Amino acid sequence: MSKRNFEEVAQYVEWQSQNKCKVLSAKPEHAFNDLGTEVRVWNVKTDSDGAWWVVEGDSVPMNLYPQEAYYFSSDEVYSFHMGLMERMNASIEYKPEEFVEAITLNSDIAPQLFRKLKGIATLIDYAIEIEDFQSIGVQCREILIELGNSIYSADMIGDGEQPQASNFKRKAELFVQFYLAGSDNSDYRSIINKLTEATWDYACKITHSTNATFYEASTCVTLCTSLVGVYENIRQKVSDPISQYKCRICMSKKLKIVNDETNEDGMVIKLFLQCEECEEITEVVFE
Ligand SMILES: [Zn+2]
Repeated sequence: MSKRNFEEVAQYVEWQSQNKCKVLSAKPEHAFNDLGTEVRVWNVKTDSDGAWWVVEGDSVPMNLYPQEAYYFSSDEVYSFHMGLMERMNASIEYKPEEFVEAITLNSDIAPQLFRKLKGIATLIDYAIEIEDFQSIGVQCREILIELGNSIYSADMIGDGEQPQASNFKRKAELFVQFYLAGSDNSDYRSIINKLTEATWDYACKITHSTNATFYEASTCVTLCTSLVGVYENIRQKVSDPISQYKCRICMSKKLKIVNDETNEDGMVIKLFLQCEECEEITEVVFE
């Protein structure tokens, strides 16, 4: 590790003053080692710009503080500098799970998918070489295959031929057909199918690409993560019995279930939804 010398510290101070002053003297006043990294505080005097503390160390950015104004001792300036650096590091620290949560708008994601998405969100942070990008493509593809297995069940195809285990596109298509049937859903269905196709194809492309950069790989991670979010949304839409209803009087969607009726088999046949805006009850009958 290299220690900074007089010239470097002097240059830094003169540069910070836009070369309007000249450093007369600079000497390390104190070296601190209590946080596992050596940090030095320099006492710097200039001809026309007063005296400064300069803090620098092996893994610490260099910074300067005026001696007269706020900081009386090297001890004080050291504590201030380290506190500031810690706060800066904390505020820019990248957390892969937060990336996944943000892109999927905090949807509930199946745990095995969430873990894998966190994995690619971690990888992209370290990816530098072309092999890193290719392996991100491979992992994105595996996540999509896992997504296919997670959303698909054999009854979705009826008597037709079952898709192969790793045929993500076909499984996704069958899932969408099964849950988003009808003309009401045709726009939703169409955009999801396009997004699915494009995401899969792009992940395959990155897997074999010899000229992908960080940006293409990052796009692949973002697409893949958001696609998982999209399918979790469909799953939630399907299991949310009242999302499609609105108040029959004021048309508000702020409804809560206040009562239900079941048949002799315990199946819900009727729901009573109360509007939180106007308190009107809307009845929903299930066939
Ligand atoms: Zn209402």
